[in-house]
Amino acid sequence: MTETTTEDFHLLSATAQPIFDSVRALNPNEPEFHQAVHEVLHSIGPVLERRPEFVEHAVLERLVEPERQVIFRVPWIDDNGKHQVNRGYRVQYSSVLGPYKGGLRFHPSVNISIIKFLGFEQIFKNALTGQGIGGGKGGANFDPHGRSDAEVMRFCQSFMSELHRHIGEHTDVPAGDIGVGGREIGYLFGMYRKITNRHESGILTGKGIGWGGAQVRTEATGYGAVFFVQEMLDVHGENLEGKRVAVSGSGNVALYAIEKATQLGAKALTASDSSGYVIDESGIDLGLLRQIKEVERGRIVEYAKRRASARFVEGGNVWEVPADIAIPSATQNELDEASAQALVANGVRAVAEGANMPCTPEAVAVFQAAGVLFAPGKAANAGGVATSALEMSQNASRQRWNFADSEQKLRDIMADIHHAAFYAAERYDVPGDYVAGANIAGFERVANAMLAQGVI
Ligand code: NDP
Repeated sequence: MTETTTEDFHLLSATAQPIFDSVRALNPNEPEFHQAVHEVLHSIGPVLERRPEFVEHAVLERLVEPERQVIFRVPWIDDNGKHQVNRGYRVQYSSVLGPYKGGLRFHPSVNISIIKFLGFEQIFKNALTGQGIGGGKGGANFDPHGRSDAEVMRFCQSFMSELHRHIGEHTDVPAGDIGVGGREIGYLFGMYRKITNRHESGILTGKGIGWGGAQVRTEATGYGAVFFVQEMLDVHGENLEGKRVAVSGSGNVALYAIEKATQLGAKALTASDSSGYVIDESGIDLGLLRQIKEVERGRIVEYAKRRASARFVEGGNVWEVPADIAIPSATQNELDEASAQALVANGVRAVAEGANMPCTPEAVAVFQAAGVLFAPGKAANAGGVATSALEMSQNASRQRWNFADSEQKLRDIMADIHHAAFYAAERYDVPGDYVAGANIAGFERVANAMLAQGVI
């Protein structure tokens, strides 16, 4: 799987273009951040025309500038006694709707552009959930692959020895993302507790069920993406029964997208990692995939070795597999124009971004031109952060909700997000355009709050 970025942006409205020009001039060499800002500015052009007060109060100029950015050194010692140094980030984008909220990503590709693109998107995603959470994101250019548990623990402890100054249940509440799962959240939480001498459950989400974690948080992003697909299909009187589903990735989002799609009667056919993909015409055996990925922390090829109906395609592009539904759940810009054309040629009906910005702008244009139902990440994968907000509520009130109630809440939230995006698109005369609808609905909530709270 290759990552691509694009710097060929088409012209925006007369109001939005100067803002975008200034973003590019002030933030050079940040292509992912430019891409995310451009998409939002493009969608909300019509809002600015109808609501000139947003322009007058410089809402956008303020929004593209994070409230605070922290970049820090993360020194640690590996198992061979060698000194290692990584770079840590926390970008606190907007707290107008609630404490900053967004995950931590540990991946060698992490840089300020990626953290800012994710943080910027997070503002609108979190607004869409209706849960009273602001937007932020963080991480480090640390690669957990091939590291021992002890090394990951020392890294997390060093990371938290700086991060703890900047977070808090009313300030900023990080969670997981690529490379940060239950193991890392545990080590981070333990270090926070030691440094502060306080068991403040609400400072991180994605915790273990036995120590402050919430039911369904682990499953929420993948489940939520499938619920969103269900909502889109329902508008057209269709459902998931018997549909062929292609999923990329084999991490948290992918695993639970596969699980929920299967539970709802679809056949999930694929999973991938950065080495290639597997296709299993009998449907992915989730127990086996979890054993390999979550327990053994192995590579995807292992799945094909242990399952007769599966085949491993080294370095292959998972989007060449014919599917009715595609759920890209690995990383940004993993599905390009050619992949989108292949999916359309094979008759894809709906695409939901489980990952953040996995489809390039050119790919999105292909889907929209072909009439494919397309759900952007800030709507389709918002179930994760929405359930994190439910975890925060439970931590604050010292309650524990059961699995069934929590899953029903997630289902309701995804239906509400679908409703908000669908009707925002209708109000602005772009029916069926979930990209515009999600951006508009999220932006309106944030912008209204910014107007009410003054020039901050
Ligand atoms: P994980 O670390 O659990 O899994 C990531 C998966 O994607 C792995 O299979 C990994 O393969 C693959 N991957 C990551 N980077 C690349 C790359 N550069 N090229 C090819 N494959 C890659 O992460 P998550 O499942 O948590 O996150 C996946 C996506 O979903 C991200 O975009 C994240 O921002 C987004 N997301 C996650 C949420 C959550 O709750 N976890 C919430 C909302 C969005 P390999 O091991 O080979 O790197």
